[in-house]
Amino acid sequence: MITERYHATGVIWRRAGAAILSKVDGGRGVAYPKVGTIFIGPNADLSTYYHELGHILYERIPEILRRRIASEARAVFPIVSNTEIKCALDANSHQPVELPVGSYILIGDRYCGLDHSGDDVESQTNEIWASLFAAHHTGLVFPESIASLIRDVATKLRDLSPGSA
Ligand SMILES: [Zn+2]
Repeated sequence: MITERYHATGVIWRRAGAAILSKVDGGRGVAYPKVGTIFIGPNADLSTYYHELGHILYERIPEILRRRIASEARAVFPIVSNTEIKCALDANSHQPVELPVGSYILIGDRYCGLDHSGDDVESQTNEIWASLFAAHHTGLVFPESIASLIRDVATKLRDLSPGSA
């Protein structure tokens, strides 16, 4: 189970109320890693739950693995600006949607925004990780370089968990 596999214990899940909803990206979800809490909005899909859990886990990922996430994902998946994306559809409604200004990484058939928690490299790597994590757990099959990276993160998070030898 995912909690054991990544040692993702102690995460608090809440339904987003009105005050939080204004901060919830696209009405889907938002994570507050410092307090281990995830708020889920009305437009959340399965991918949202994993994406936000990915943000909580990111705080625990050592720097050396963060650098691998950034370099290996950027080598495999195209990164484009909103102006280069001509025919984006909303993940929920499947209607054409105008994307917010920013950078996006194309993972599977989804453009995942890289700037919604800040436009510095660290924030972008956090978004890349959350998007990889969500795609992996919603069934996307990755090339071996990315699949092994996700396994290495899982192993490291278990090794770092309190109580592991
Ligand atoms: Zn995110």
